[in-house]
Order: sequence, then C-alpha cells, then structure tokens
Amino acid sequence: MNFDLETVKKNFIRRGFQAVVCDDLQQATRFIIEKFPVNNDMIIGMGNSLTLDAIGIKKIWAAQASVYQHTLGSSESETKKALLADIYLTSANAVSSDGQIINIDGTGNRTAATCYGPKQVIYVIGKNKIAVSLEEAIKRARNTAAVQNAKRYSRKTPCAVTGKCENCLSPECICAVMTIHRKQPYGVKIMVVLVNEAAGF
Ligand code: SF4
Repeated sequence: MNFDLETVKKNFIRRGFQAVVCDDLQQATRFIIEKFPVNNDMIIGMGNSLTLDAIGIKKIWAAQASVYQHTLGSSESETKKALLADIYLTSANAVSSDGQIINIDGTGNRTAATCYGPKQVIYVIGKNKIAVSLEEAIKRARNTAAVQNAKRYSRKTPCAVTGKCENCLSPECICAVMTIHRKQPYGVKIMVVLVNEAAGF
C-alpha cells in the first residue's frame, strides 16, 4: 500500500515526535549527519538493523565519537553504554500510518533505549514498514520483521520453518518484549526519519 509520507509525518508530529521525510537512504544519512553533529565527548548507541547497515552511518560516526551497538555478542558493558547514549539510532519493526511505532525484542535492550536513557532517539524507517493501522503494524512486526529476524539469526523457532509467527515460547524465541510508542515519552526526544524507499525487514 502506498502512503502519503507527508500525511504520515504530520501524524507523528501530532503525537509529539519530530519527523521528516527523505527521498532515499542517502538523503536520510545526510539529514542525520547535518542535524545531529557528534564529537569525541559523545556516546552513540545503535540498534542492530539492516536499515542502519544500508545507510553506513556507523562508520562515519565511529570516526568522530564512541559508538556502541546492540548486537549479538555485545558485552554487558557495551550494552549498558548504548543504553545511556547521547544519541540512539535504530529502525523500527513497523509503524502505523497514524504515527505509532512498534518494536519487538528478544532481550529488550533496543526497546529500553527507545523509551528512556538516551537524550535523543532517531528512527530511520523505510516506507515498507508503514501499515495502515496499529493492528496491522503489530501484525507486520510479528509476521514479517520478527520472522525474518529469527531466520537471520538462525534461531530454532517454529517461524523459521513455517515462515509465519506461531506465537511460540521457544527457548530461542526473539519476541520477549513488544513496545508501542503511541506518543513521545517525556524523558527523550524522538526524531522519525521516514524514507521514501524500502529498507530493512
Ligand atoms: S514464532 Fe516465536 S520467535 Fe517466531 S515470530 Fe512468533 S513469537 Fe517470535
């Protein structure tokens, strides 16, 4: 489904988020770098995201600041530093066209960082992640993003075999925590960068 990104942007702003529309990932990268200058005294946290891999910003920021990413194999100390970053950059598993953000986590580190801790959170969201309603966004997060991520991490979960969420409680389940940002929380500023091309799962 094609959405008018300017309308979606307005719906995020109505909920207290900052929001911008970029034509493509290159423009999104330029916007982030110019809008959020970093320096040696700053800590940057990042979620583990194919969208962020695609924009290549980790390499750029790592040359200018301390970057800690929530990824498989991160130490506890790295994970905690990312939780208290000056800027936390991530994507989302889905958003609703009325401006709500859905994320699912196995550990909860990424979801925690988007709620409290970092001063500024930046979401980079490809247009493929937009769903018509909150209900459809949750369905997308569970049946598309989580299933693809379970496969990506070679998890022994039923969805990795059937290709759809089986609502499992497997030991390797990656769906322990789900967050819905229905408005910007009080303790953090959130910038939503909507990208007019597909990015990530
Ligand atoms: S089957 Fe389990 S791991 Fe896979 S998407 Fe559903 S809850 Fe998550």
